[in-house]
Amino acid sequence: MRPNGHIAALLAVLFPLALLAGCGDATEPTADEAGEAALTEAESVPAGPVSERKVLVLCYHAMEPGAEATYDIPTEDFSQQLALIHEEGYESVLPSRIAGYLRGQNDLPEKSVCITFDDGPESILTRSKPLMDEYGFTGTAFLITDAVGGEGKLTWDQVRELEAAGWEIGSHTACHEKPTGIDAARCVEELEGSKAAIEAEIEGECLALAYPYGLYDASVVEHARDAGYEIAFTIDRGPADWTTDPMLVPRQMVVNGNSMNTFGRWLKQEKLHLEKIDPPVGERVTTTEPTITAVVADEDVPVDGLEISRDGNPVSYEADEENRTITMTPELREGANNLRLNYYGDPRREVSWVIIADPS
Ligand SMILES: [Zn+2]
Repeated sequence: MRPNGHIAALLAVLFPLALLAGCGDATEPTADEAGEAALTEAESVPAGPVSERKVLVLCYHAMEPGAEATYDIPTEDFSQQLALIHEEGYESVLPSRIAGYLRGQNDLPEKSVCITFDDGPESILTRSKPLMDEYGFTGTAFLITDAVGGEGKLTWDQVRELEAAGWEIGSHTACHEKPTGIDAARCVEELEGSKAAIEAEIEGECLALAYPYGLYDASVVEHARDAGYEIAFTIDRGPADWTTDPMLVPRQMVVNGNSMNTFGRWLKQEKLHLEKIDPPVGERVTTTEPTITAVVADEDVPVDGLEISRDGNPVSYEADEENRTITMTPELREGANNLRLNYYGDPRREVSWVIIADPS
């Protein structure tokens, strides 16, 4: 069922109000409190969308014929991946359109992908874009602003060339430091400085951010929002959809050696919907053995049918069928961890998030 224009317009007005109301009382919350409230809110409340769409966001780096390094993709593989996207009838969309969708302001095509590139290698312009042009796809370049013009990197003239061709230019911060490993002032400087540096060089605005190493916590998210970003990308797993927080949009990292079978499955799979995640996404934990609970919201998913892992290590869990709740106590390492949940049914479903453990 699809709401008519009036309802969509109403949702567009009400959704931001609902988020504000979600922050609680009239006193000004601290940055951390506000960040956690917003994250929890977006996990549990549908984002007032105009439709129930999903979008697979792909994360690439450099491209080179016959590439061998993990993050360099052989141009011939990229070419096959683009051909499949095209054959399956997907359109390419840009971050601003996804941001508008997640805020109930516009729709997405029935089948869409978003093609992004991190770190600003020159091959975006010289190798990736020409292949994308054959299908009329546009992409997004996330720049490390201090690296622009460096060896093997895009120059500002080349960045402007991408923008003129309809690409969006986003920030991947100024220095590419781990945003969860630096103090707040430094993090703000990285986020604000890189946005200003890009906007001084391009025509448009820099509204999209890709967190370096896909790392975030509630404070980093809050700093990104305060810096004026409208959408921010992680490298969490699974597609984004109407339930996704615009400041935590997952991206599928494409690495050298991913088969076409794997790539095809990414296009088709759905988000695994969890509710009442506790501790909430973005909250740092003070132990390396936290107990994590969540409710499995997808009715097609048997609660005991999940595969859970922490950075590739299997995690066992208890399933409470009646309440559709899962409970686990993964062994975390100090610092960043990725908790990943898969359902290998039909459709396949996947979700993951970052948990920062500060045991000291
Ligand atoms: Zn990067």
